Parts: sequence; structure tokens; C-alpha cells
Amino acid sequence: MSDIIHLLPDSIANQIAAGEVIQRPASVVKELVENSIDAGATKIQVFIKDAGRTSIQVVDNGKGMSPTDARLSFERHATSKISNAKDLFNLQTMGFRGEALASIASVAQVELKTRQAHDEIGTFIEIEGTQTRQETISCPIGTSFNVKNLFFNVPARRKFLKSNTTELRHISETFQRIALTYPDIYFSLTHNNSDIYLLPQTNLRQRIVQIFGKKINQQLLTIEAKTSIVNISGFVGNIDSAGKSVPQFFFVNGRYMRHPYFHKAVTEAYSRILKPEQTPAYFIYFDINPAAIDINVHPTKTEIKFQDEREIWQILTVCVKEALGKFNVVPSIDFDTEGKIDFPIEQPTIIPKTITPNFDSNYNPFASKRAKKTPIETFEKLYQKQHSIKFAEPQEIVPNSELFDTKNTTNNEYFQYKNKYILTTVKSGLMVINQQRAHMQILFERFLQGDNQEVFSQQLLFPEKIELNTTECSILNEIEPQLKLIGFEISNLGQQTFAVCGIPSLLANCANIEHTIKELLDCAKEHDMKIHSDLNKILAFNLAKSAAISNHQSLTQEEIDDLIDKLFQCENHQFTYDGKPIITIIDDHELEKRFNS
Ligand code: ADP
Ligand code: MG
Repeated sequence: MSDIIHLLPDSIANQIAAGEVIQRPASVVKELVENSIDAGATKIQVFIKDAGRTSIQVVDNGKGMSPTDARLSFERHATSKISNAKDLFNLQTMGFRGEALASIASVAQVELKTRQAHDEIGTFIEIEGTQTRQETISCPIGTSFNVKNLFFNVPARRKFLKSNTTELRHISETFQRIALTYPDIYFSLTHNNSDIYLLPQTNLRQRIVQIFGKKINQQLLTIEAKTSIVNISGFVGNIDSAGKSVPQFFFVNGRYMRHPYFHKAVTEAYSRILKPEQTPAYFIYFDINPAAIDINVHPTKTEIKFQDEREIWQILTVCVKEALGKFNVVPSIDFDTEGKIDFPIEQPTIIPKTITPNFDSNYNPFASKRAKKTPIETFEKLYQKQHSIKFAEPQEIVPNSELFDTKNTTNNEYFQYKNKYILTTVKSGLMVINQQRAHMQILFERFLQGDNQEVFSQQLLFPEKIELNTTECSILNEIEPQLKLIGFEISNLGQQTFAVCGIPSLLANCANIEHTIKELLDCAKEHDMKIHSDLNKILAFNLAKSAAISNHQSLTQEEIDDLIDKLFQCENHQFTYDGKPIITIIDDHELEKRFNS
């Protein structure tokens, strides 16, 4: 029998490798810019056409390549950066696998122009598929790669690319991450001939300002820690910087990384000074012995494993708290953790021991005459179909005999409990309605009905001007039709400035329109605008969430009745869009069980 194993031709092996390294235009930008940094460039310009589909060009003033190196650079495992395994543990460069250029050339048409300082003349190489053409050329010192028609020979991957807005956003994020690591390098990013970023050489603080705007300058608090394990430097934001969508960056040894565990360390340091939905801005740089982190990570992965994770957690916590304390952001600093290893412990949900019912003592249920009665029986029947729902945390409600005295409460009468729940009796027991979720659901369904109502958008007397960053602009352009459906009228004034001329009338009392819009953009970003048909719902839900009454709001009897009426008119009054129960019933059986046990 003849042998059946054969080696794949290089062109195919490279394409397979490309699938790993080059996932989208942003990956090409990352690889080329990192190469320029490795080549010692002090000026790196990135030119993009059609979100990278047509062309991605990176021009640098680095050390350039000799004619032979230029040709070799496209070979797989061709690298000038390591020559033996030992070097792996002492990496000073961004790249080392020698895989990127081979991968890129296997899925795109590539042009390279390069010249070294001591050469009079440079090298031009053009690669398309397996065809290579090399010539001498006159060109400036440094290197210019132009990657054209990415995935031209892999139609499935080309089709897989997302909208231009999404791809451009990925490019812009990649670019930001690198630009924030090398403030001493001039970077520019240009898309279809318009400049997105022009970042002259500067210091770190100013680089952050260049990217995120002047306002952030006063919000940055310096952090610094030098220890035998790790050096930490950078900035954390003060309270004013906090929000739902704020820049948060970790870098380790000059590389962007994601680190949920350290993220928690930072946010916990703020736990006493920020609202639960707020999160602080931060730009934190770890400098650590490369041997103490896992460098053998996948080239596209941004997670990094640290050997001394727990110790670093503590150092990080102390230096963030110190920065906050120094600038009088928190009343006192917790120094008693010094010397101790303070492992993070999951706080069990605190269950209140005694609950004092908070309701209107003047309220007489017999006096209240509601015009419309809710069809409670029907509702209850509906509800009982949901066998799967159990009253999850029975401890939360301690029935108070007075409160539930049947003499005082009759069917169809509602009252507020703890400014958070609305209670009533139903045939099978005690019904508890979460007022915030109820209101959320009412608003949610209304927002969604928006497209049938013409009077839905309310014109603002004075249009509100908002300024957005590049990412937000591109998301806004993409979801503008959806925002219109739920009642926003926004016009583009150019230069990343927009005028909000109309808002959903249900938001008429909204204090901070800019904030609300930014939150919506953020939520669209989070959902990657994948599921366009659901985007309306997601936006409507988020809007409803921010417009709904709070969990601590005292309601008048009229308001309670109105809320309940509207809730039962909802198509779905049992669950919110994100699947949380709005209503629960503690049935008589459950109650009896408690008294008998
Ligand atoms: P790696 O960066 O892992 O070494 P690449 O495929 O990205 O692998 O690059 C291969 C080689 O090509 C590099 O090691 C370097 O010698 C050379 N090279 C790539 N880009 C540049 C550049 N912009 N300037 C100078 N040399 C470069
Ligand atoms: Mg490289």
C-alpha cells in the first residue's frame, strides 16, 4: 500500500496559520505596526481604505530591510528577533514567531518598499498568491507595507467580515492600545483620506489626552508602585471620570492585556466611592520580569497569566487606594492590609434580618376606590402556568402579621413595601411585584411600539450638542435608524459633533441626554451590532432601564395603581426582556410550610 501522508505545500500551511493570526483587518494593522515598533521606528502612519477591505498601509521610519531580508521576511518562521529557545525568555520585541508576514501574504496581495539607512537604493517586493516580483526602487528610509484586498482568495473569510463600521472600530481599538503603550512614537491613523488620529510624540498623560480628549486631563490620578515582584505605573480616574463606558486599559511589558481579576482589584478599590453601576477609568502599566508571566500565549489572545497573581492583586489595590486617598477622593485609606495577603472573598448577599414595612400609614384600603380594576384572576391563572418559577429568596420577606392581616387587605388592593415592591393578595397567596422591573417593562413595550406612533418623538426647544469619540461616531452612524425608531432625532454637525433635536417623549424628564445616548452607544457596541433585528429591543430595553423609577422611590397610591394597570396591559408582564421575574407569588402552601416547620 502506498504512503498516504504528505507535507502540505507552504502556501496552504501559511493559509492555515493565517486563520489563527489574521482574523480581520485589525489583526493586519496590529502585526504591521508591531513590526514597525520592533524596527525602532519613531513615526508610524497607518492608512486604511474601506475599513481595511481594499487596503491597509503601514509606513514607518524604522531600520528597514536588506534586499535578502525583505524577501526572507515572508517566509514562515523567518524572524530576526530570536535565534534560540533561550531568547524566548528574554523577549524585548513584540513579534518573535516569524509568522505574521507569511500569513498576511497568503491571504492578501502585499507590496513592500524598504530601505536601510546606509543603502542608496531600496527594495520593492510584490506578492500575490505564489507569485513574487522583486525590484530595486528609490524610496525613503524605513519600510512601507501595503496589504491589499484582504482575504481575496478566501471568499468565506471575506464574507465573514463585519460591517465597515465594526471593522473600523476594531482597527481603532487596536491602534489605541498600541498608541497608549508608545507615547514617544508619532502615530497616525487615516481612513479613506480622512485623519482619525494624529498623535505627535509626547508623554503618557498627554497621549491619553490626545486620544480621549482634554477633559480627561484633570481626572487622572497618578499611580506608582515599585516592588520586587512588579512595578506598577499609570493613571486611575477620579470620581468624575467614572461611568458606564470609560477607557480601561491594562498593559504588561508594553503590551495590551485583558485581566478580569486585576480589573476587579481596581474596581473594588473604588467600591465605597462609586455607585454600583459606575466603573472607573484606568490606564495601568505593569512592568514585570518576563519569566514571571506566561509568554507562550496565542498571538491573538490578550489574556496573560501571572505567577504572583495574588500578591500583585494586593499591590495594585494598595496603590490605587493610595492614589485615591492622596487626592482626598476617599475619606481614609485602608493601610491595615499592609503586610497581609488579602485574598478577595466573595461577599455573600446580605440578607436583612429585620424588615420594617414602609407604607403609608394613612392609607385605608377600604377608602380607595379605583376606577378600573385589574383582571387579577386572569392574570393569576396566567402566572400559575409558570411552574418553574420558585420564590427564590424566601428570607427576604419576613411576613409581618399586621401587614398581612386579611382584615386590612382585600383583593385588588396594592401597597408599596420598602419603596421597592408592590404587594397584594391573590387567590393563591401573596403577590410581590418588583416596581422597578414593572416600570421597565412598561417603558420597554412602549418604546418598541414607537414606530406606530407619530407623536412619539418630542422636539427639544434647544437641541443638545454632544461630542463623541471616533468609536462612538461610527456606532452612532450605524444605529441611527434604530435610534430613530425609538424616538431620537439626531443630526450630524460634522467633526464628531451631533445635535440631538428630538428625544423619545417618555424621556421628556431625562436630565442627562448625552449620558443616555452614550450608554445606548455603549450597549450597541457591547452587542457588537450582531443581531440587527434585536437591536431595537436591546436599545429599548436599555433606555427603559435608565428611564425606569428606582428601587427606592416612594409612590403615591395613584401612582401604584397606575403602574399596576399599565403592567397588566403589557404583552409580557411576568419577565423583563433580560429574563428576570417581575412578579412572584408566595403561595399559601409556602406560608403554611413556614409556620409548621
Ligand atoms: P516576527 O515579527 O515574529 O519576527 P514577522 O513575520 O512579523 O515575524 O516579520 C518577519 C521579519 O521581517 C521580522 O523578524 C523582521 O526582521 C522583518 N520585518 C518585518 N517588518 C519590518 C519592518 N517594518 N521593518 C524592518 N523589518 C521588518
Ligand atoms: Mg511581527
